[in-house]
Amino acid sequence: MRCPIETQENAELLLAYCSRSLDAERTAMLEEHMRDCQSCREFAGGQKAVWEALDTWEAAPVSPDFDRRLYRRIEQEVSWWDLLMRPFRPLVFRQGLPIAATAAVVLMAGLLFQHPANIQRSAAPESAQVEAMPPDQVEHALDEMETMREFNRLVRPDTAEPKM
Ligand SMILES: [Zn+2]
Repeated sequence: MRCPIETQENAELLLAYCSRSLDAERTAMLEEHMRDCQSCREFAGGQKAVWEALDTWEAAPVSPDFDRRLYRRIEQEVSWWDLLMRPFRPLVFRQGLPIAATAAVVLMAGLLFQHPANIQRSAAPESAQVEAMPPDQVEHALDEMETMREFNRLVRPDTAEPKM
């Protein structure tokens, strides 16, 4: 496979691998690549340390109105953070995600949205263009669309299926 870091392709595979949610087949593929690729090894190593820290991290008990007070302070003091967090708030409240995990979601979202133009293009119903694409590229585009759909479902469960 091509290097996810160098080519900016398959970045979601690397992230899924690091969060241990990648299937066995692609895990093997990525591990084979990492044997020869120092950048990916270092990236995965760093991510592994973060995930292990999250695993062992035990949250101190918080007061029931902690979130409310935190967000009020954020609103007062850091408006860009508020903007960044706004789409994820329902997720945070519903599932009680710790702040660190929320930050990881925001980071992942940032990575996914780095290529919105690509995703738009591959989602457009231009059959001639799709036919001209090599099969592995089509598969990759489909994977990307699936990832985006999954992401939308997580962020806005009420608008689960976009009407095409
Ligand atoms: Zn690599």
